[in-house]
Amino acid sequence: MATERTALFMFFGGTGDLAYRKLYPSLFNLYRKGNLRSHFAVIGTSRQTLDDEKFRAAIKKSLADSGERADSKEASDFISHFYYQAHDVTDTAHYSVLKELADKLDKKYKLQGNRIFYLSMAPQFFGTIAQDLRSQGLMSDNKDAFNRLVIEKPFGRDFDSAKQLNDALSKSFDEEQIFRIDHYLGKEMIQNIEALRFGNTLVESLWNNRYIDNIQVTLSEKLGVEERASYYDNSGALRDMVQNHIMQIVSLLAMEQPVAFTDTDIRAEKVKALRSLRVYNVADAATNFVRGQYGSINDQADYRHEDNVPHDSTTETFVAGKLLFDNYRWSGTPFYIRTGKMLADKFTRVDVVFKKPLVDIFAFPQAPNAPLAANVLTIFVEPHAGFSLQLNAKTNDATFQTEPIKLDYLVDAEKSKETPEPYERLLHDVMKGDGTNFSSWPEVSYAWKFVDQIRRVWDLQEPQFPNYTPHSMGPAAAEELIQRDHRQWVYRLNN
Ligand code: NAD
Repeated sequence: MATERTALFMFFGGTGDLAYRKLYPSLFNLYRKGNLRSHFAVIGTSRQTLDDEKFRAAIKKSLADSGERADSKEASDFISHFYYQAHDVTDTAHYSVLKELADKLDKKYKLQGNRIFYLSMAPQFFGTIAQDLRSQGLMSDNKDAFNRLVIEKPFGRDFDSAKQLNDALSKSFDEEQIFRIDHYLGKEMIQNIEALRFGNTLVESLWNNRYIDNIQVTLSEKLGVEERASYYDNSGALRDMVQNHIMQIVSLLAMEQPVAFTDTDIRAEKVKALRSLRVYNVADAATNFVRGQYGSINDQADYRHEDNVPHDSTTETFVAGKLLFDNYRWSGTPFYIRTGKMLADKFTRVDVVFKKPLVDIFAFPQAPNAPLAANVLTIFVEPHAGFSLQLNAKTNDATFQTEPIKLDYLVDAEKSKETPEPYERLLHDVMKGDGTNFSSWPEVSYAWKFVDQIRRVWDLQEPQFPNYTPHSMGPAAAEELIQRDHRQWVYRLNN
């Protein structure tokens, strides 16, 4: 039986794309599962003029669009907890109207003063909102109640702006009250990294530089920039994907075993890992990171001719890089990462490549055998969830040859339908007050310090763009980056 949680949700940017497409359907799932029952209320707020009735109709549509039965009694009971208040977040005086509504709903639904403020809007407003929430008395002063602030990405565009934002938030909220969303941390197989590593002697005892040759993380997107061009062109793949999602995945792969499976212990280990990530000097940043921008093919325009992209844009739509940890566990074992738009396919995977046996006893000259393949553990994050372990075995015949075989575990289609959406999990975690799957400020700051150095070096030089063909796996330089180390990407086109 699910535990009922009690809270007032206040969604700033409550009429935005993210709220309608992800947040409200996720809340409905939590309602269906019993995590929300009668003691909750939702205030949607934005600049738009709407009344409760119109807002509820929009919620109904958002549920229907996400494939729910929006005309059921359950859905209409859920929707009856939604209220709307038009409000310009830059107008301090306006917050009193929100406060009045919040206090009224608190009494009506017996919410015990618990408040979740979800900022689903442009980050330039985050500081002002946080400040006014406190100064205008929207935060509950009941000492047994919670006040939690949920922040969407991006968290700054470099270390300095992120710190400025964090300083502004910290004036109103303590670190444990701030939940910085990184929706990759809500994905089933990203959460499974901890289970795989710390639940299996077989895995964790080999999880170090003695046995692992290299680790590869690939976040590949098939689509181009689509309608997000004006945001994306100011950001680029390094800021949009590497600083947050990739650094979070890498820190889960690299961290030491936490003392216990709690948010405090896990965060402490992630921070420790990020502190030992080598921040490159200029020469190493230039050698160990490559960038790309997609060109055109057939009807597909190049990036510079997408809508809302300047024709001389130098924004990267692809990044590949090598990360090195200076610690006992990982010294000498590189982590290769890559991400980009308009690539061959849409998927996220982690490939852990083990070292080959020190001696290949099958390579005897009388019976020439192909060299042993490396063992590879692949974590498939999406679109399919699962693991695959590549081992060497004897071919099933009278000769003695070895060949790579795979042990596969894929979450079956029926089961994966039950897998909660990342936003559902993350909203549930916020209700529970569990910060495990959110980025803490120290993690964010170390990630920015690393990424800023790459950016600084890139900004010194005009890139030769475009430099990769749509539907490829990026520029030739991404291949050279890994081949230079006598290695190759495990996922390649046509393998
Ligand atoms: P959106 O532009 O669709 O919605 C923005 C909302 O903010 C609207 O409700 C708008 O009315 C409101 N708003 C704007 N200015 C306001 C003001 N002065 N006062 C009050 N309300 C105001 O944006 P979105 O796509 O929903 O994204 C919201 C946030 O989530 C952004 O930080 C974005 O980077 C992040 N995000 C979005 C997605 C996504 O899939 N849409 C994914 C990841 C992160």
